[in-house]
Amino acid sequence: MSLSTLNTPSADEPARERDGRDTAAPALSELTTLRVGGPVDEYVEAESEAELIDAVRAADDADRPLLVIGGGSNLLVADEGFAGVVVRDVRQGLDADLEDSCGTDGACGGASLRLPAGQDWDSFVAQAVANEWVGVEALSGIPGTVGAAPVQNIGAYGQEVSGVVASVVTWDRATGSRRTFTLSELGFGYRTSLLKRTMRSGDPDDPGAPWYPTPRYVVLEVNLQMRLGSLSAPVGYGELARRLGVEVGQRAPSAEVREAVLELRGGKGMLLDGVGGAPLGDHDRWSAGSFFTNPVLPADAADELPEDAPRFAVRSATPESTVSPSLGVVDPTLVKTSAAWLIEHAGFTKGFGLAGEHSPARLSTRHTLALTNRGGATAADVVALARTVRDGVRDAFGIELEPEPVLVGTAL
Ligand SMILES: Cc1cc2nc3c(=O)[nH]c(=O)nc-3n(C[C@H](O)[C@H](O)[C@H](O)COP(=O)(O)OP(=O)(O)OC[C@H]3O[C@@H](n4cnc5c(N)ncnc54)[C@H](O)[C@@H]3O)c2cc1C
Repeated sequence: MSLSTLNTPSADEPARERDGRDTAAPALSELTTLRVGGPVDEYVEAESEAELIDAVRAADDADRPLLVIGGGSNLLVADEGFAGVVVRDVRQGLDADLEDSCGTDGACGGASLRLPAGQDWDSFVAQAVANEWVGVEALSGIPGTVGAAPVQNIGAYGQEVSGVVASVVTWDRATGSRRTFTLSELGFGYRTSLLKRTMRSGDPDDPGAPWYPTPRYVVLEVNLQMRLGSLSAPVGYGELARRLGVEVGQRAPSAEVREAVLELRGGKGMLLDGVGGAPLGDHDRWSAGSFFTNPVLPADAADELPEDAPRFAVRSATPESTVSPSLGVVDPTLVKTSAAWLIEHAGFTKGFGLAGEHSPARLSTRHTLALTNRGGATAADVVALARTVRDGVRDAFGIELEPEPVLVGTAL
């Protein structure tokens, strides 16, 4: 275990502990992709599952706030920092069990994969495409870890990780034991899951208690079940289908899907700084991705939107099904609209900042849905911008945008 703790200051390390904070620990601005956030009390890097469990258990036993962190790509942490323990799982790797024979019914086997929570998500996607494991190619370029992927059910370009999850092995902080959830138990929805919902207790008097900002269930390992083949899952997103020259619902070579997605994402600044050969210092990429989720409205409320507002069917992958959610079951009572469209039509243009073009926090110059750090932003700058955008959309359309990242020590 690589530890940077409060418990071990020595005479020759007088600066290690100051005001109850471990000065040797990285600040949250170094651990998150928005690059804001203050110091932490204690930072632990777990190199094995036992170390991860030990660190989580120690924090919970001592009643200390706990932030299990992956790539820090879905977090906005206050400038005051985190007065607790930050634990990062640094395990990488993958166990694969392949069954590639085809039965008389024409159905072929698949890949059963076991990945530690700390595994980098996009390196895994690259490996999956290279090995012809189908179902995550459209999720190329999403930063972060495998362990966090099912927490908010990552999704993009017509795919969601719920389409390939077989089960998730967790550490239950309430009972102090391992617990495995199968697909049907994980309660996946649009950018949510049972895991994410357990961050909050549901107690109106104390909505943050007792687990936030980490779920009750800490992901230890994720098991995926994927089809084998060189062609992708059916393409479920119009913009991607057009780029590939196929119809929505058709398949394309997975390697081409990955390449097209990375190009589309690059054009929108929705990749991490430096990824894909791009030069470092692209501040459009200093973000937490989409800052607001696309609002899902009752169908009659969506009727009130201007005629040209985007309207998408709300579909869900059924628990039994591993098809792309874009091809799942349509719920006729709900309509999803576009948060980016609402923001733009409420008057916020690309690059908008509270103090013009020199604002430290601004909307990305390539995508209105990303709030970005132009180099010297604080968390307070990002929060002020987010509030202004949220309030502007509410005033223009009566719709309350909800933040997608997990907010730590701050709120909109
Ligand atoms: C440029 C950019 C583009 C993005 N594009 C997309 C996109 O297209 N689609 C999408 O869905 N998201 C997108 N995101 C958001 C983000 O990448 C995903 O949500 C990702 O899954 C977060 O992973 P992480 O490891 O960085 O999680 P973190 O940000 O480190 O943590 C997020 C939350 O997950 C919890 N968590 C982390 N690890 C575990 C674990 N092992 N067990 C339990 N809880 C855990 C944390 O406690 C925290 O509450 C984007 C972000 C960026 C910066």
